[in-house]
Amino acid sequence: SSSRSSVIIVGAGVSGISAAKFLAENGVKDVLILEASDRIGGRIRKEDFGGVPVEIGAGWIAGVGGKHSNPVWELANKSGIRTCFSDYSHARYNIYDRSGKIFPSGLAADSYKKAVDSAIEKLRNLEVGDLAKTTEQSSAPRTPIELAIDFILHDFEMAEVEPISTFTDFGEREFLVADERGYEYLLYKIAEEFLFTLEGKILDNRLKLNKVVRKIQHWRNGVMVTTEDGFVYEADYLILSVSIGVLQSDLISFRPSLPRWKMEAIEKLDVMVYTKIFLKFPYKFWPCGPGKEFFIYAHECRGYYTFWQHMENAFPGSNVLVVTLTNGESKRVEDQSDEETMREAMHVLRDMFGPDTPEATHILVPRWWNNRFQRGSYSNYPIISDHREVENIKAPVGPIFFTGEHTSERFSGYVHGGYLAGIDTGKALLEEMRNGVDGKSDGKAFL
Ligand code: FAD
Repeated sequence: SSSRSSVIIVGAGVSGISAAKFLAENGVKDVLILEASDRIGGRIRKEDFGGVPVEIGAGWIAGVGGKHSNPVWELANKSGIRTCFSDYSHARYNIYDRSGKIFPSGLAADSYKKAVDSAIEKLRNLEVGDLAKTTEQSSAPRTPIELAIDFILHDFEMAEVEPISTFTDFGEREFLVADERGYEYLLYKIAEEFLFTLEGKILDNRLKLNKVVRKIQHWRNGVMVTTEDGFVYEADYLILSVSIGVLQSDLISFRPSLPRWKMEAIEKLDVMVYTKIFLKFPYKFWPCGPGKEFFIYAHECRGYYTFWQHMENAFPGSNVLVVTLTNGESKRVEDQSDEETMREAMHVLRDMFGPDTPEATHILVPRWWNNRFQRGSYSNYPIISDHREVENIKAPVGPIFFTGEHTSERFSGYVHGGYLAGIDTGKALLEEMRNGVDGKSDGKAFL
């Protein structure tokens, strides 16, 4: 059986939901949202962890307190969600070596400054195209403390090296979402404005869950979508909001295939993997209080259980620690058992806090890389990239429009990037629908 809508939206993450809301508010009521998983939210996802609501995807609202107001911060305020101010900048003063000694703050500050200076110099050489100098080995981090600082600088704080639009536009403050309802509550609030809900549940047949899109056939004036469970849906247009990792995988096939310029743009974009591992303990054994929320473990392997956070500010008494891994370390840990990961993490904690450190009672290891509906955590444009790369990523192919965090020129990688991208794509599509192409200007979408 088949049914026809004006617009099919593939994916109910923040970008898909914001695109749908924009279209609905502008008169395009017959949108159909097809979501592969059994929930909305995508990479915004709360999970219950031994009674503590933890965010295994996006955790922070980044970019607050600046000249413009971050739309996600506005949504958070409107919905009354609870947040905590986070300040990573003191992390560099809580760097432990393998014998549990904290590096003196002077030494840590010096190493940090050196790392920032060398990153800025590297960036300048890149800009003037001096590759010889860029690959020069003299300034490469070597010691555990240098490696740890290199990791926090490049995998977390790049803002100190080059201006990042999120911080220049919206401000430098970051707030951790710490709410029983989760970060995803913001998405339910957006959805509620255009979808029918009852007692906090979305009951609207324009949203279909557990619909894994496997095939997209497209012509000048329409698309036909086939899902894994054998259903076929037709529409005039399609908005594809799946992640760059999914676009790089073979989950969805296109007939005809996407043009070469599109495939090349998709292939070239880097996917970051970012993993927050949660550990719960019978009691607290780490220092708390001002300036102690974040701490660092310096190991001779870059990124080996480097970046730690305690959750006492977010949820006092929760006895939860979070350690963040990225890229290679994320993939390594995803492929091993959680017991093995627990053993490694406990070893690291005993290095830092001594042999009496109690065994964790629970562990949670999200697997964003192996999740076939994600294949990574977020997109990463090269530091020096021109507009063309984003243009090609977001340019439509016939009736297929692209959205998602990765199509945001200024805010890729962030929740607000996804949110604003959804609106941008909605606008572009609306324009196309209004101008009409050939036989498509009959305006039947506007009921
Ligand atoms: P998604 O949320 O991925 O939505 C796409 C949807 O498409 C998903 O629901 C998926 O299930 C669905 N889908 C995929 N394939 C198919 C298919 N074949 N058929 C149907 N549906 C399909 N951002 C911040 O601002 N602050 C942070 O602190 C932060 N931390 C992060 C930490 C982690 C671990 C991760 C993973 C991300 C983090 N981000 C953070 C990034 C932020 O979560 C994303 O940028 C944003 O949520 C992406 O939204 P999206 O709509 O583009 O994509």
